[in-house]
Amino acid sequence: MSENEASKSHASPALSEREVQAWDVETDVVVVGLGATGASAAIEAAEAGAAVHVVERGWRGGGASAESTAQLYLGGGTPLQKACGFDDDPEEMYKYLVASCGPGVDEAKIRQYSDSSVDHYHWLTGHGIHFEPAFVPYEVSTHPGPGQGLSYTGSERAHPFCEIAKPAPRGHTVLKDGKMSGEFMMQVLMAAAQEAGAVIQPDTDGERLVVDASGAVVGLVARFRGERQYLRARRGVVLTTGGFAHNEEMLRRYAPALLGPTSPIGPEIGDDGSGIRMGMGAQGAAVRMDAGCVTLGFAYGHRDNLRGILVNAQGQRYVNEDVYQTNHGQIALLEQKGQVYLIVDDSIYSPPAAGEDDELVSWDVEVAAVAETPEELEAELGMPPRSLSHTLAVYNEFAAKGEDPYFHKESVWLQPLQSPPLAAIDLRVGHTYYALFTLGGLHTTPGGEVMDVEGNIIPGLYAAGRTASGIPAQGYNSGLSLGDCTFSGRMAAASAAKRSA
Ligand SMILES: Cc1cc2nc3c(=O)[nH]c(=O)nc-3n(C[C@H](O)[C@H](O)[C@H](O)COP(=O)(O)OP(=O)(O)OC[C@H]3O[C@@H](n4cnc5c(N)ncnc54)[C@H](O)[C@@H]3O)c2cc1C
Repeated sequence: MSENEASKSHASPALSEREVQAWDVETDVVVVGLGATGASAAIEAAEAGAAVHVVERGWRGGGASAESTAQLYLGGGTPLQKACGFDDDPEEMYKYLVASCGPGVDEAKIRQYSDSSVDHYHWLTGHGIHFEPAFVPYEVSTHPGPGQGLSYTGSERAHPFCEIAKPAPRGHTVLKDGKMSGEFMMQVLMAAAQEAGAVIQPDTDGERLVVDASGAVVGLVARFRGERQYLRARRGVVLTTGGFAHNEEMLRRYAPALLGPTSPIGPEIGDDGSGIRMGMGAQGAAVRMDAGCVTLGFAYGHRDNLRGILVNAQGQRYVNEDVYQTNHGQIALLEQKGQVYLIVDDSIYSPPAAGEDDELVSWDVEVAAVAETPEELEAELGMPPRSLSHTLAVYNEFAAKGEDPYFHKESVWLQPLQSPPLAAIDLRVGHTYYALFTLGGLHTTPGGEVMDVEGNIIPGLYAAGRTASGIPAQGYNSGLSLGDCTFSGRMAAASAAKRSA
């Protein structure tokens, strides 16, 4: 690694307050980065009575949040869940999140998030977010369409989770003109931040934190249109700059297994870990830095594919196919080294429809092999004799009885694969799309305070959203990033706003 490359993965050292000649801006709370986390933080701090100054690298803000599909994981009995006829309670949500977001979850954060989810729903709707009151039928799709605000966005109905917690759909999606719209969600949140009184300064890159002699964070060094600027934060700095999916050097150093997938975050966002590196430069600890949300969406818009079977390079099944696409990405990439195929028969296979222009529903289908018999298929794929053919024989025998004794796929998806030809859809890394964003970040309390390596709180320093390690510690369900971002942004800002100046 060259010196220049290494600097992109190293901490950005904090500046001593003694070296600051004069402050260009003085405020209570400085928020760095205006995505969903930063906007929520700005609203919360400003409504708590703090003077808030937001610096944003881009010309207007929005970040990855504006590019997202605007699903927020909320539950515990929200008005939308009730309107769609679903019972849920915070305890079931807590149990599900602990089971699905690990290993290594922060139980205190999940407890707070689950218990506060209905309140958070009201906070969002109170600031202009709207969810349309209809449910996406699980067997048909998990892709919200016009008028459908609620869907399953996780593995709640799949084994083993359905035995751990009572399933409920918790994906709450913001729609604009019938389409999922992170852009619209961000317009609403950014307008609310301005309305609350936050000052928003675009074209400004946060570079380093400023610390006093005790190590407390007292300000930020930024670059505004090429000029250095010093911002004094009387109560605290909240880092909300997103993750590090675009920083190849950080990925190489902290999360080499994530170098294969591609980030859907636009290059202009520059998800480069700058907030994490600033926090580390003020002695903040970074944790779970190898964690990422990896999505393999082979059944997102093609639910019938769940009737197929997933096999590894040895022709063995390794998972129940009905777990959610984010579980699939992680399991395929991290446990099967990205060497997996979906086996379907003629009754299931559906090529992408001509003119299908929704990039989320369409999928790049590369067919690795087609054959009339299982034996021919395994030979074509270069698998050992009696590997895939044996797997199929066992699967078919039980599927005919509506059973899956090995992996417990829900019976609604079980059918023998016996209508030739058989096909192997190529789901190997490099042959289909694995989407990535990072989950590791600064170590924070449930109140968003950043801790050092010994667990001591660093006064004046807060982090949230993908700049911190949050609810999705390692495992991920759709909506948990924006749910966590909006909620943790609020928690961090509330802590900063009430800290004495
Ligand atoms: C295509 C796509 C679909 C997705 N769909 C969903 C979904 O439906 N639900 C879900 O939960 N998650 C989804 N995600 C993930 C989710 O969008 C992100 O994880 C989340 O938006 C991160 O929010 P954030 O506030 O932490 O960062 P961001 O939204 O990226 O905001 C960070 C902001 O900080 C700015 N910034 C960065 N560095 C600096 C600096 N040094 N100084 C000043 N400003 C800086 C950036 O310009 C940016 O505006 C999706 C992601 C993508 C790409």
